Amino acid sequence: MSSSDFRTQAHRAIDFIADYLDTIESRPVLSSIKPGDIYNALPAHAPDQPAALRSSVPAEWSSIFQDLEQTILPGLTHWQSPNFFAFFPSDTSYPSILGELLSAGLGVQGMLWLTSPACTELETKVLDWLGELIGLPTEFLSDGAQRTPRASVGPQMHSSTPHARNGGGVIEGTASDATLVALCAARHRVRTQHDRTQASSSPRFAIYTSTQAHSSVIKAAMIAGLANSPEDRTHIRLIDTDTNFALDPAALERAIREDIANGFTPMYVVATVGTTSSTAIDSIEQIAAVLDRTGCTHSESGFGTWLHIDAAHAGAACVCPEYRSMLTGIAHADSIAFNPHKWLLTNFDCNCFFTRDRRSLTGALSITPEYLRNSGTDSGAIDYRDWQIPLGRRFRALKLWFVLRHYGAEGLRSYIREHMRLSELFESLVRADDRFEIVAPRTMNLICFRYRGDDTANKRLLDTLNASGKLYLTHTVLPGVGYTIRFCIGATATQERHVRDAWMLIQDATRAIEIKTV
Ligand SMILES: *Cc1c(COP(=O)(O)O)cnc(C)c1O
Repeated sequence: MSSSDFRTQAHRAIDFIADYLDTIESRPVLSSIKPGDIYNALPAHAPDQPAALRSSVPAEWSSIFQDLEQTILPGLTHWQSPNFFAFFPSDTSYPSILGELLSAGLGVQGMLWLTSPACTELETKVLDWLGELIGLPTEFLSDGAQRTPRASVGPQMHSSTPHARNGGGVIEGTASDATLVALCAARHRVRTQHDRTQASSSPRFAIYTSTQAHSSVIKAAMIAGLANSPEDRTHIRLIDTDTNFALDPAALERAIREDIANGFTPMYVVATVGTTSSTAIDSIEQIAAVLDRTGCTHSESGFGTWLHIDAAHAGAACVCPEYRSMLTGIAHADSIAFNPHKWLLTNFDCNCFFTRDRRSLTGALSITPEYLRNSGTDSGAIDYRDWQIPLGRRFRALKLWFVLRHYGAEGLRSYIREHMRLSELFESLVRADDRFEIVAPRTMNLICFRYRGDDTANKRLLDTLNASGKLYLTHTVLPGVGYTIRFCIGATATQERHVRDAWMLIQDATRAIEIKTV
């Protein structure tokens, strides 16, 4: 493709994106396509000849854009719709799209510092910015003890025992990757500690997380060879939750003591700040206290148990000081990850993973074949390939840099605060109607509610709403509650009128169901 053809088609693509986002409300949020419809609508074989030989480049590209509109778009669920209240959001924004576009245009590989120094150093810097913005202790930042904190950083987050330059952040693809790399670091550290203290026999590891934790914890254990199936509990302990659906620290303590008595080594604990089902918040402080009491902490005599915080969705809210209390105790954790690709205006994929023990991480993941040896590595520069599973890596820091520069900390805070305001509003609308009940505490922008009927009625209500195409909601099942409708307010374009309209639609659909069942 010539650069002049590229210019023409690129302008067209940008117009396409802007038109799409300007008119997204006119499309049904949830695609109603049947399995196979899109596949069957596409040609059986890839084109044989280049476009220029078949007709012309402009003609081919006109037909590509036409296919995009006519065949592909009807098969999309519109995640950027302001009426998307399902799962957790997957926000994008124009600054982020520009960063993604430029990343593709520059086409660099950031596997080693040497393979594009700016790719690595910009990433280290924006992760330091972002870590500071969510109030992480300085040990989680790359410049650790050297850093002078800015006045606006939350008061409770200051570190007492700074570890110089053993911390830092990295962009992983997803929260699932973060959970897996943290597990690898945990195993490396606990094994090293075990070898030092008891040389004999290989340790039998145990992993702890709550029954409400994301499935990626079990998946990480499966990938790491610590579970043969999702049901295998040889090494995994799923700890019960309290009435707020947060991990019960007393149950964790019992499980750890029982494991130690049975010869297991507690290796990895994943606490969730903002569970996927209900945004419940595990107490990092209480979990850290349990690890301390049971001799698990990383010290001369402790097991070196790794505490990872999965704040995939909720981490974004911590740009606002008033929500940082959910990270109380973070100074005792070894790593934390959250997804700007969920609720911080940065399009997928972008997970920010911070650790204050990068030596254990790189100890677990570093391997240097001869063909990658270079002077940058030898001089101690960061090679992010040692912080992740793949070798190659994209220039994802660009989009995060653009988002941070465009919105600034205050812009991000008002974005989060507006979603919180709308969530409070929606909760009050639900509470004012006694046909409904709120079934989990609202800790942020997710409202879990139920129509006071059986599970079947709730399911019918959800199906009716989603079939309308006017909004999209999903469900969960909460222990002791049953079928629960989730309403999450976090899409970039959502405004008050969308929330009010959604509530009207829910009330109308409920009325229709009640008429039918009477
Ligand atoms: C969404 C979510 C994940 C998984 O996120 P990916 O980035 O898609 O892997 C993990 N944990 C929690 C709590 C989540 O909400």
